[in-house]
Amino acid sequence: MSARDELVFLPLGGSGEIGMNFNAYGFGPPHDRQWIVVDCGVLFGRETDSPGVDVIMPDVRFLAERRGNVLGIIATHAHEDHIGAIALLWPMLRCPVYATPFTARLIEGKLEEAGLGDTVRVREVPLGGSLALGPFRLDFISITHSILEPNLLAIRTPLGTVAHTGDWKLDPDPLLGAPTDTAAIQKLGDEGVLALVCDSTNALVAGHSGSEARVRASLVQLIGTLKGRVAVTGFASNVARLDSIAHAARLHGRKLALVGRSMHRIVEAARDSGYLKDFPPVLDMYEAAELPARDVLYLCTGSQGEPRAALARIAEGDHPAVKLGKGDAVIFSSRVIPGNEVAIFSLHNRLSELGVEVLTAEDHFVHVSGHPAREELAQMYRWTRPRIAVPVHGEQRHLAEHARLARSLQVPEALVPANGQLWRLAPGPAELIDEVPSGRIHLDGRVLVAEGEGLARARRAMAFAGLIAITLVLDRKGRPAAEAGMIAEGMPGPVEQAVRDAVNDLLRRKAAGNGDLAETVRRTARRAAFDAWGKKPVTRVTIVET
Ligand SMILES: [Zn+2]
Ligand SMILES: [Zn+2]
Repeated sequence: MSARDELVFLPLGGSGEIGMNFNAYGFGPPHDRQWIVVDCGVLFGRETDSPGVDVIMPDVRFLAERRGNVLGIIATHAHEDHIGAIALLWPMLRCPVYATPFTARLIEGKLEEAGLGDTVRVREVPLGGSLALGPFRLDFISITHSILEPNLLAIRTPLGTVAHTGDWKLDPDPLLGAPTDTAAIQKLGDEGVLALVCDSTNALVAGHSGSEARVRASLVQLIGTLKGRVAVTGFASNVARLDSIAHAARLHGRKLALVGRSMHRIVEAARDSGYLKDFPPVLDMYEAAELPARDVLYLCTGSQGEPRAALARIAEGDHPAVKLGKGDAVIFSSRVIPGNEVAIFSLHNRLSELGVEVLTAEDHFVHVSGHPAREELAQMYRWTRPRIAVPVHGEQRHLAEHARLARSLQVPEALVPANGQLWRLAPGPAELIDEVPSGRIHLDGRVLVAEGEGLARARRAMAFAGLIAITLVLDRKGRPAAEAGMIAEGMPGPVEQAVRDAVNDLLRRKAAGNGDLAETVRRTARRAAFDAWGKKPVTRVTIVET
């Protein structure tokens, strides 16, 4: 180790937003650091913020420019906000990918879809396994969450050990998969933890997140009271929950049918990785439709109101196989992800209009969070006793509250990182030493576009106030040779007429054109629209010289 070696932490996503987690650790002298990436996820676009953009991911050009020194991408677990961008960003980073078996299976599926199946092989790390990458040694420690195979990573370096939690909770009875390896976490604490980089999602939630086993008991009881068809919707990736629902179906003599592609995909990946050994046989959804109502249980995608998912189509009455109506029930075994309220409540309403009973976590115990509430966070700090708390995976308010909690638990240093900030964790006290280029990339249709290019912003502006395209025809002396041509989209007729009048009026008054004519016309058009309407459309002016 040379005197100038440093251990640095660089979040490029997930610090200040929920989603698109991307954390990098660097080790070495400032001019020649070696890097590892922990998680590489996406955020789903919202139509209102970024129309036409389904998937958002971090801008990783800082690391792409240093990709010769990027030793690998390590996935903590298989949620989209942790693995969803691997296949999309891999061509920029071109480094090995490491994950435990179930996660590896799902990443491979995504690589295949992206046409990279033959190029990139995910290197499987066994549960509880280790990995040596340059100056880093990583131990995968099993923990619990709302998916199979979540891992806490112990990242050991010559300057100290970082405990990177990934997403976690302390579920005393996760039903499926390994329990939390508390002995390994405590041992880590005894050896000394430099920094705990930790999930902040529920830093504002008091108490404990609760157990999957209690949800199972409650679902069994609730489904037992229902007489008609039952559909349960939730996150497909929560395999223990799927298993609970299958268990409830079997206990009440209902046959199970999976509805929605991701349900099939997850069940298959879980089986391939050795889970769900006694999952009941699944009925084809067309066959299920032939059964008496009280013999069927559908497991559906679409709990967040996604318009193309199975449940939305069922609610619209245009699902090819599944029809629900009076006497039937839909259980939302999920939470409302902030931002999806409108879509979800309108789905509830549409189901309700069909006469379907809608049962949710609001009035039934049908869901628990996969993230640590404050008691669990406190337990993690007691086990690991880090010198530095590094809250990640949350909006600013979650990170700030998490840092406050850590300080109250006597952690000597707590920092609140933002995407693009380069923090030195060792040697010396934690310090912000640089800001690197960061931001977001949109998957816009099939093309990756930096958010900074403003395409989504431009579309939002058109959505708000429409578009005017004006063509001016000028003679050789630069004088208008005809009335202006104008196309307007998305505005009331009288506004369009007011703009047309204002532009032609200007052209008559300003007989000889000059270099600023296009800009003058553009401003005149926008001002006329604003005076008549209170809004300024996107306006483009083209000059044609004859
Ligand atoms: Zn997760
Ligand atoms: Zn997450």
